[in-house]
Amino acid sequence: MKFLSTCRALFRGRLPGQAVIQITTRCNARCVQCGMSVDHSFARHSLDPEVVDRILDTVARLGMQAVSFTGGEPLLDLPRLTGMIRSAKKLGIPYIRTGTNGFIFQRHEAPDFEDRMRRTADELLESGIRNFWISLDSSDPDIHETNRGLPGVVRGMAKALPIFHNSGLYPSVNLGINRLCGGHIPALHGPFDTHGFRQGFFEAFTRFFTFATNLGFTIANCCYPMSDEDRAVYQATSSDSFIRFSPEEKRAMLLALKDVVPDFRSRIRLFTPLSSLDALVRQTEGEAGQTYACRGGLDFFFVDATAGHAYPCGYRSAEDLGPFWELTDLPGGEPVCRRCEWECFRDPSELLGPFGMALSNPLEVMRRFSSRPDLPGIWFSDLRYYMACDFFDGTKPMRTEKLARFAPPQAAPALVVSPEVAS
Ligand code: SF4
Ligand code: SF4
Repeated sequence: MKFLSTCRALFRGRLPGQAVIQITTRCNARCVQCGMSVDHSFARHSLDPEVVDRILDTVARLGMQAVSFTGGEPLLDLPRLTGMIRSAKKLGIPYIRTGTNGFIFQRHEAPDFEDRMRRTADELLESGIRNFWISLDSSDPDIHETNRGLPGVVRGMAKALPIFHNSGLYPSVNLGINRLCGGHIPALHGPFDTHGFRQGFFEAFTRFFTFATNLGFTIANCCYPMSDEDRAVYQATSSDSFIRFSPEEKRAMLLALKDVVPDFRSRIRLFTPLSSLDALVRQTEGEAGQTYACRGGLDFFFVDATAGHAYPCGYRSAEDLGPFWELTDLPGGEPVCRRCEWECFRDPSELLGPFGMALSNPLEVMRRFSSRPDLPGIWFSDLRYYMACDFFDGTKPMRTEKLARFAPPQAAPALVVSPEVAS
């Protein structure tokens, strides 16, 4: 059924639609990379469940396939959140995601911790969640916990993950890429040198994925840094050097990630598609025309927590499309925007782009593939990998034997990272 609706969308030259619904701007963390930090003072809002119901009805009516409930911190009110997930499920929306900054993993020494974790996992699963992400900023627990203002949460994650897995929910670790994601690496802070910076990020990503795997995560995702997007409606941006990169730094960082992803594909279900990284790198090299533009505002939308209005994405705040439930149809037209690297929209746009274009302009798809002989191989290997990962279904365990086919010819370096935390 899911497969058929996805095919239907692709045959119409569209991608399966998704709505990122910001259910609240309230948060209890103090992340330096985000305008919604509890330290920032501004009028906070949460969407009423009735408003969310109207939004979800519209998502279903428009045939969209995926919803993300984001924040702020979505788990501040778990019963309210699971009510929304249940509504989405009842409407037949197959891909439902939400996540947490990890505050629930505090006080892991408390006698009721295990029960609390079991109940949380069961409630989320019972409501119909498919993917549940947990933010982690660094392979160094101190850096993560200080940045979030959430002491003790990394140890709490290590204790909670087996409990979640026993319940049948496999959370994804969500890395918002930053300069400290692999701890303090001098090359990522001093004067820029392309080779040193790329090497520095190679080490940072290697440390991060090793650490996340040792903690017990079986799925990982990377958010490319979103620094200070002009007047973003989704305030998860900041001008702090933690996530602010020059174009040259960004390119070296993307290349490093492209180098590291193949090393870890057999060890953890790693969402980041190589075809998307390749496209984002080419974009920095002035070859944007060879990439697939973002489907934001065509098939993908952001819905704000202030009024439930639709926007093409979390960053094109000047394009308020009005209440989401008043959308009568999905807009047509060709995608053109490549302004940012918001992974939620750019990764699927690039990965599914050739399908979307195959009917409307098959010659262009062939031209793009033939202009870079290695490109079809990268893209097909992404698709094979996604299949081996059950399309990142967070209610299914990792199939190690399937992922083994993606092991690099030479094993990635085994880094020992804070074993006391990973234990
Ligand atoms: S990044 Fe998430 S957890 Fe951190 S302040 Fe922003 S909304 Fe809160
Ligand atoms: S590229 Fe960025 S700014 Fe453009 S539609 Fe996509 S998410 Fe929005």
